[in-house]
Amino acid sequence: MEIAMTDYQNLFEQDRAHFMHPSTHAHDHASGALKGRIITGASGIRIRDHEGRELLDAFAGLYCVNIGYGRTEVAEAIYKQAQELAYYHTYVGHSTEAIIELSARIIDWAPKGMKKVYYGLSGSDANETQIKLVRYYNNVLGRPAKKKIISRQRGYHGSGIMTGSLTGLASFHQHFDLPQPDIKHAACPHFYKAQAGMDEAAFVRHCAEDLERLILAEGPDTVAAFIGEPVMGTGGIIVPPTGYWQAIQAVLAKYDILLIADEVVCAFGRLGTPMGSQMFGMQPDLITTAKGLTSAYAPLSAVIVGEKVWNVIEEASSRDGAMGHGWTYSGHPICAAAALANLNILEQENIAANAADVGAYLNQQLRQTFEGHPLVGEVRGVGMLAALEFMADKEARTPFDAALKVGPRVSAACLERGMIARAMPHGDILGFAPPLVLTKAEADEVVGIAKAAVDAVASEVL
Ligand code: PLP
Repeated sequence: MEIAMTDYQNLFEQDRAHFMHPSTHAHDHASGALKGRIITGASGIRIRDHEGRELLDAFAGLYCVNIGYGRTEVAEAIYKQAQELAYYHTYVGHSTEAIIELSARIIDWAPKGMKKVYYGLSGSDANETQIKLVRYYNNVLGRPAKKKIISRQRGYHGSGIMTGSLTGLASFHQHFDLPQPDIKHAACPHFYKAQAGMDEAAFVRHCAEDLERLILAEGPDTVAAFIGEPVMGTGGIIVPPTGYWQAIQAVLAKYDILLIADEVVCAFGRLGTPMGSQMFGMQPDLITTAKGLTSAYAPLSAVIVGEKVWNVIEEASSRDGAMGHGWTYSGHPICAAAALANLNILEQENIAANAADVGAYLNQQLRQTFEGHPLVGEVRGVGMLAALEFMADKEARTPFDAALKVGPRVSAACLERGMIARAMPHGDILGFAPPLVLTKAEADEVVGIAKAAVDAVASEVL
């Protein structure tokens, strides 16, 4: 659809007047100081904006468009489902063919021991469900004090009242009276920030001891669950050191604490494995997925419940009746159809293997290009996730004054050069999470643009 430029001016005026954007500076948006962008189309790894500019989306939207943009098979599946049956609820045992098939397919992608799938529409609502399941589980087991959930500093788990509390980033707590009292935060597993002289094995021990100290201080009888992303996303794309998850799981087992793997970013091939849990030998009791489940062609999240928790829930129902938890749109058939079409593409085109192969290439090229760069303190990543962290003094690992906004400036310099890479909210970090269909030639393009952008900002701030 062709829209004249003057009409875009009108649209921008209405946008500024009436649309409350998420995570957006309210005054800068309303005043027009923040230049908005209207996205008009997309194909493969590229999006188009109102000026007709094509941008390489090296963050796959919000690390969600795993299969890339514009796959008509998914659009057709949505259309077909909408014509046949746009909606029916799934309360009291009602189902649709799409949601039945999808549940079995999700269990196939998950690590061993998973039993049931409950659906929502977002990562945040799925983690909200997880918190309720953990409470329910311990209450029916007669352990009403075992309620607290341990998350990690810099973890990201959503932005609701409870899920925003789980999120370990101060900007998600400010002015919301968060975190809630039953949520605690353990150490972030960022080895780069470990004390000088500490090797990786010592740092892993430090993280496990920090967790155990926290559990003992709170009282093991009060701690119900630990939640973590296999690789931290929004907190800065942090790959845990070798042995981290083994050490954490040993502590959790000792105190009978459930593990929730928040796989909202990692699941469905982003790391090159089906989910992040398989890559790190995690054996979660509960798993949260969203984003890559539909590659964001429709909103859908899935809470995957392991046998241990499910058996308790099922047994409790004989005594207590149905669990009072449900959303109108749980298992929405249109979203299920989108997810099935998406999983077909992921499986038939072996896209997780491409993520492993091209992701390794992208990470290697980033390391080769930036490890010696004066602005770059650390290059890190795994699979189709990567980050550059900028330091004022890379030897001393001294960060820049936040007011200099080095991360956002590099991101803006990428944008000027036709690429979206995300300034992560904590520290000066540029994140990459391209669609999993990226080719090696496109990875070279990502690295080339990033190099020009980092050089430009380095010449201003160093
Ligand atoms: N969990 C993780 C690991 C995430 O990265 C996100 C979003 O980025 C969420 C949960 C929340 O998902 P949503 O934004 O769909 O509510």
